[in-house]
Amino acid sequence: MTRLIFLGPPGAGKGTQAHLLAELCHIPHISTGDILRACVAEKTPLGEKAQGYMDRGELVPDELILEMVRERLGQPDAIAGWILDGFPRNVTQATFLDKLLQELEQHSDRVVNLDVPDAVLVERMLSRGRKDDNEETIRRRLEVYREQTAPLIDYYSGQQQLVSVNGNQSMEEVTAALKQLIES
Ligand code: ADP
Repeated sequence: MTRLIFLGPPGAGKGTQAHLLAELCHIPHISTGDILRACVAEKTPLGEKAQGYMDRGELVPDELILEMVRERLGQPDAIAGWILDGFPRNVTQATFLDKLLQELEQHSDRVVNLDVPDAVLVERMLSRGRKDDNEETIRRRLEVYREQTAPLIDYYSGQQQLVSVNGNQSMEEVTAALKQLIES
């Protein structure tokens, strides 16, 4: 049973690595960013509300995110395990997740912090070309990460769940490091 939370700044490679590992372990890769982008593409009410925040590089308000995550973790495929990518992103979300996992009688195995220097992050995001990957939004996303998401590093090291992995190496090397971690 594998249940992992991927932390780390935007552009750290969370999405790519979470996707690969989830396939390997036959568990769902739950990316709140992907779910939100699908809602925006389908023009659902949630998508319409979320789009402006995403375009500006701000966090989508918690009240929209929390029920979305509760719903997703309650689906049958999530019983076999999961990799959470992009959630939680602030302390309110982390506290909510703690309670939700208690309700579901689950607990996360580890919280993986993918470490990458800022200059590399900006370079990677600029080459990716997603709609919110322009310089101004990238700058804002990094600020939001530092202000709201980075405090989760302390939150989870307090719970002795945190492991840091060097994300500033080749994709294959990061995957190998993560595999080792799951198996250990
Ligand atoms: P990245 O990690 O590169 O920033 P994501 O796909 O994780 O990309 O997120 C893209 C955008 O979606 C964020 O900038 C934010 O607006 C929104 N988002 C994703 N997950 C959350 C979340 N847990 N809480 C609030 N907003 C979120």
